[in-house]
Amino acid sequence: MVITVASGKGGTGKTTISTSLSLAVSSRKKLSHVDLDVEEPDSNIFLKIPIQREEMIWLPLPVINYDKCTFCGVCQRVCEYNAIFVFKNTKQVKVFDQLCRGCGACKEMCPFDAIYEVQRFIGVFSMGSRGNIDFYEGRLNIGEYVTTDAIRWIKRRLKNLNKNDITIIDAPPGTSCPVIQSMKDADFVILVTEDTPFGLFDMKLAYGVAKKMGKKMGIIINKALPGYKETREFARREGVPILLEIPFDRKFAKAYAEGVTLSEFSENYRKRFEEVFQYIEGVVQNA
Ligand code: SF4
Ligand code: SF4
Repeated sequence: MVITVASGKGGTGKTTISTSLSLAVSSRKKLSHVDLDVEEPDSNIFLKIPIQREEMIWLPLPVINYDKCTFCGVCQRVCEYNAIFVFKNTKQVKVFDQLCRGCGACKEMCPFDAIYEVQRFIGVFSMGSRGNIDFYEGRLNIGEYVTTDAIRWIKRRLKNLNKNDITIIDAPPGTSCPVIQSMKDADFVILVTEDTPFGLFDMKLAYGVAKKMGKKMGIIINKALPGYKETREFARREGVPILLEIPFDRKFAKAYAEGVTLSEFSENYRKRFEEVFQYIEGVVQNA
């Protein structure tokens, strides 16, 4: 069972929720916690799992063999990302590393077999375990924006590594391609939102994406405000359950600032996160 914890925008407390859920569930079951927020992974600030192994995340990068290249221009025409340019006059082929998505189309289509590939390192994939949690984290190198490709790489790698029945994914914030990639295999998506008009607006976008993908969903309202009803009305209208409401509380904010999850901070919340998991388990099993 794969549960993706997502949010329409950053700063909603998505990581607090995903790590609280993982810690609560891990008191009884073995699971994998995967941080796919590769531009800014911070789950391990809360989980504090010792990293035991690291691998480089890489993409194939085309290199030109000038002994074979005729400067025909085919590679430039097939590249959808404008990452390769052929300068016929000066007899040069320039690959723009940071635009290249490593799709391999240019190599495949080169009529003169003049392209080979090397590995371009774009980030680090870290692994560690403690207790019932196997932890995986992707971290893009600074300045890289091939986020979706990095997530795809990690998911491919996890197919061999991840042996647990339960996987909790901390997705990147927003609603763009990396989020879609993080939700793709999810059996259930938790949408985390703040109880504000901005929070609701962005959550509606994330909801729209998950709905289009046919995902089962539930909402967790973080920093819940008693006077703001719109989030609950939206949930009621759309028939999406509110799994948990966490009030705005300085004690929680202080614990968060000190790297302590809600599940560790409060036994009551640990139990409530367990109940959230049991609910999701029931929904997924009965699907
Ligand atoms: S397609 Fe091959 S031969 Fe043609 S310009 Fe590109 S690398 Fe050179
Ligand atoms: S590998 Fe793909 S993205 Fe990179 S230069 Fe070739 S066609 Fe373009």
